[in-house]
Amino acid sequence: MKISVLFPAAGSGERLGRGPKAFLEVGGKTLLEWALEGFEWADERIVALPPGAGFTRPGVRTVVGGPTRQGSVFNALRVASGTLVLVHDVARPFVVRAAVERLLQAVRGRGAATLVAPVPDTLVENLHHEYGETLPRERYRLVQTPQGFERELLWRAHLAAQAASTEFTDDAQLVISLGHPVALVEGDRRMFKVTYPEDLLLAEGLAQVWEG
Ligand code: C5P
Repeated sequence: MKISVLFPAAGSGERLGRGPKAFLEVGGKTLLEWALEGFEWADERIVALPPGAGFTRPGVRTVVGGPTRQGSVFNALRVASGTLVLVHDVARPFVVRAAVERLLQAVRGRGAATLVAPVPDTLVENLHHEYGETLPRERYRLVQTPQGFERELLWRAHLAAQAASTEFTDDAQLVISLGHPVALVEGDRRMFKVTYPEDLLLAEGLAQVWEG
């Protein structure tokens, strides 16, 4: 089955305050380059870039991103030709191949799946800056990417969300809103999302020992 990997890379990187995240460097490579290398084996790679960004790589297709993550994925999905589609945030530069293999197996069997990680800390409600109710952390998971889908299913989900003007932070929610379940697959904590300035230090450290 032909596999397309879509990279929404058009974010402004507001929480980091260092310009578009895709072009930040760790270990001498941009986050975008790290993410692309993690999926070199794929049949097709499509990157949604910030408007005006000049980026070209042999074998990598580019499209202009949208105003939101969902819009950026839509623009990439529109030109994707794979039977299966993986969506991966460029803010997650370290791609663990074994986790991606687990995901692909689930997508082939169930049509839709996402990587998730356990919640390591006690999870508590912030009650006006005081300790509120604790949630049973074993019942919750942190959602990672890549997420994988049959292309037709994800396309229908995006069209339905567009028609209803609903906006989601990931593609699993889009597919669930169509009534299709999304399987949870064990991810990997090394696939963390670079979000805050201190995450760059962690990424720099991991880049030094990364073996791909
Ligand atoms: O901001 P956040 O880290 O949640 O963004 C998740 C991913 O979505 C990032 O890879 C970012 O580049 C991407 N994105 C996008 N287009 C936007 C906003 C975010 O491709 N308009």
